[in-house]
Amino acid sequence: MARVYNFSAGPSTLPEEVLKKAAAEMLDYKGCGMSVMEMSHRSAIFEEIINGAESLLRELMGIPDNYKVLLLQGGAWSQFAMVPLNLMNGSGKADFVLTGQWAVKAYQEAQKYGQANAVASSKDKTFSYIPKLDPDTFTKDADYFHICVNNTIYGTKFNTLPETGNVTLVGDISSCILSEPLDVTKFGLLFAGAQKNLAPAGLTIVIVREDLIGNARDITPTMFDYKTHADNGSMFNTPPCYTIYMCKLVLEWIKNTIGGVEKMKEYNEAKAKILYDYLDSSALFKGTVVPEDRSLMNVPFVTGDADKDAAFVKAAASAGFVNLKGHRSVGGMRASIYNAMPIEGVQALVDFMKDFEAKNV
Ligand SMILES: *Cc1c(COP(=O)(O)O)cnc(C)c1O
Repeated sequence: MARVYNFSAGPSTLPEEVLKKAAAEMLDYKGCGMSVMEMSHRSAIFEEIINGAESLLRELMGIPDNYKVLLLQGGAWSQFAMVPLNLMNGSGKADFVLTGQWAVKAYQEAQKYGQANAVASSKDKTFSYIPKLDPDTFTKDADYFHICVNNTIYGTKFNTLPETGNVTLVGDISSCILSEPLDVTKFGLLFAGAQKNLAPAGLTIVIVREDLIGNARDITPTMFDYKTHADNGSMFNTPPCYTIYMCKLVLEWIKNTIGGVEKMKEYNEAKAKILYDYLDSSALFKGTVVPEDRSLMNVPFVTGDADKDAAFVKAAASAGFVNLKGHRSVGGMRASIYNAMPIEGVQALVDFMKDFEAKNV
């Protein structure tokens, strides 16, 4: 078996320990004679899995009791509609910080349902920084204020959260969930597609304060109403059973193998430092993001020469470092170094880059 180092932005690498456990339990989950993907979601054995996943997530993220955890389908994208359908119900206004493609998509989708305002943008420099925010420019009576906490494509992250006062803060944490501690109480609602940092594709996690549930617009489809799922323990209809099981295994790995989210952060910082330190000293490669806003999870970099970039991506793939091609809007390369990327993978990538640099400057 030859596993590569997979730097994909998503779906992305999963802990090898988790994949092995899932493989061992594939045909016969804990003596029940079937795979988790074959069992009824109403069975006691699956109930144990879904409840276990939720309580581990609550424990690891420190989610207070007055928040519901919803395990849904539809991807982060569906939340771009579900959030306004459920929350844009007072003034019909919401504020957005445009820090990249995912924030822009959320902003555009919300325009279908109400007045979406862009309070700041970093588009002028290809989203390579987080704009400084002036609370005086925020909409005082907005129903919510949306940010994308970690910008997957551009490699930036909010290190300081906006001060929105009484306005509900909504955070897209698709590409940074459980990468480091996050104060859930600062947000009214958090959501994440699980396929970046937690599980295979198919699961969308929503963490929502209870007072924000139950005010959906009349036209809201049943499946898009948070109340539907909150009232039914995420089992209104068939949940993404196998992905929830995989997510539970990843949460157990974070808790038991890594030692919790604080340790996960230390590990992620150590990994990111290896790569950023090299980028800052390299004569060939350079990072595209201003140092103070750099992501721990997604690291875009360029040589400044499209042909050299392409040659590097190709050579890296042959050497077992795959999915390093950058997003088309940035060009160059991007290494996504999510929770499950081992530090050995980042070190080996940097060694390979040094070697490539020695031959190409
Ligand atoms: C990947 C991603 C999305 C889109 O997720 P889907 O689950 O494919 O809908 C949205 N926001 C962020 C920050 C992402 O990284």
